[in-house]
Amino acid sequence: MTDSRPWAAPFVGGAWLDKGLESVDRENPARPASIVGSWLAADAGTVDRAVEAAVHAGSAWRRRPALERGRILVRAAELLEARVEALAELLTLEEGKTLAESRGEVIRSAETLRYHGLQAWQPAGEVFHGSTADELIRTHRVPVGVVGVITPWNFPLNIPVWKIAPALVHGCTVVWKPASHTVLIAAELVRTLLEAGLPAGVLQFVPGSGARGQQIVEDPRVAAITFTGSEGVGRRIGSLAAARGAKAQLELGGHNPAVVLSDADLDLTVPALVTSISSGTGQKCTAARRVLVHDDIRDALLDRLVPALQALRVGDGLAAGVQVGPLVSQSAKDEVVTAVSAALAEGAELLTSGEGQQVLPDGGYYVRPTLLASDKPTIGLACDEVFGPVSIVLPFASVDEGFRLANDTRYGLSAAVFTGSERLARRAAEELDAGLININQSTTGSELHVPFGGMKSSSAPGPKEQGAAARDFFTETKAVYSSATY
Ligand code: NAP
Ligand code: MG
Repeated sequence: MTDSRPWAAPFVGGAWLDKGLESVDRENPARPASIVGSWLAADAGTVDRAVEAAVHAGSAWRRRPALERGRILVRAAELLEARVEALAELLTLEEGKTLAESRGEVIRSAETLRYHGLQAWQPAGEVFHGSTADELIRTHRVPVGVVGVITPWNFPLNIPVWKIAPALVHGCTVVWKPASHTVLIAAELVRTLLEAGLPAGVLQFVPGSGARGQQIVEDPRVAAITFTGSEGVGRRIGSLAAARGAKAQLELGGHNPAVVLSDADLDLTVPALVTSISSGTGQKCTAARRVLVHDDIRDALLDRLVPALQALRVGDGLAAGVQVGPLVSQSAKDEVVTAVSAALAEGAELLTSGEGQQVLPDGGYYVRPTLLASDKPTIGLACDEVFGPVSIVLPFASVDEGFRLANDTRYGLSAAVFTGSERLARRAAEELDAGLININQSTTGSELHVPFGGMKSSSAPGPKEQGAAARDFFTETKAVYSSATY
């Protein structure tokens, strides 16, 4: 390390590797001329050694009492909480989200570490009657083995924590490939876990290209892969894992509907939609991509939603009062701008005024929150995920039609319904095909102690993430039959 800028490198077998690897700079997405820090990229040999180190550390780690493993995670939670401001600033510099959003993410990551650490104090199995007087049967959980963790940049601390914390507490060792846009904040999680007492070899960190991720997926020594990211990469990981019999947990994209029924309370609906469309600069797998509105309430809704979106202050996430930061990269911005232009070419109407894509000072990767409208639910923007603060308003004339349109997508991560009717809210919970159903609230919320995951193309079938459900992915259950006659 030659200067005081943030720095990261592969961490393998208890050592940071700093020799002979390619250095990568990360620019600040709010001010691309400014370099936040740099990191060294893992090569193929590094990943090979990382898997070897995880295999080697596995037998001691799984024998370590679960309560001791849990205490390390609880200690790591305290260490994160002691550094919220510094970590939040780095997260904003590197990823772009606002400082308030970054603070929230650091605090949530600490709570997630603590939650999974405390899972070590939960019951570890079940006991069953045997078929004879002597027999007792119990279930016994064992760690699945080496876990490959591959994560996206949009929650560069929290998504890794919600995978790595349960993996570690349940006795797995980990090889983690973070997203290339957010290696610097990711490395802070590694440092925190080390400071909390994590032994060498239990967690490997291999920043690098997607090819390094694929190498982890293809390595026969890796028993399970947990991935959050795009649908295309996730599908490929799913087939590679299936081909060699490895477990794969996949959290992929979404095209989440927010259904506004004619009896919706707009005082609740408008702020919830603003959050659904613009929080995290719309770079959330749970963001509302389609606002489905009953004809009877469309004008009243848009009279309030359009000005509320236009009033949002877009800019550098570190600046006071900014509510929407930049997108993560130039290519992310180009994709959003292209998708909006394509929708306009397909006849969509731009509801938010101005250019929609106006460039803000400093050349940052800014896109203003953008609302479009169309009566054609088949146009590209209404079907394909666009990872930015962009949503499309589509009309419907009956509850049946609204719910049918909501489900008319290959995705099924999150859905919201806005209604004053308990009966219709219950119907939505039953009929909308999504892993997360939100009644009169944003599509984007989720709690760390509640199972998280989608339906249809949004997730792979299998154990959900977060909450107590996480254990099912990181462990195998044995049924142990014992006779008392020995
Ligand atoms: P991505 O391109 O799929 O990348 C995710 C991770 O996979 C990154 O670490 C990436 O490395 C790595 N990767 C790329 N190619 C790979 C390959 N061939 N094999 C193995 N790993 C590979 O996704 P992203 O652009 O970072 O994130 C945005 C997407 O994630 C959106 O589609 C969004 O919906 C989805 N997402 C879903 C959830 C959810 O819970 N459902 C949550 C957040 C985001 P590099 O960074 O080096 O390319
Ligand atoms: Mg990508």
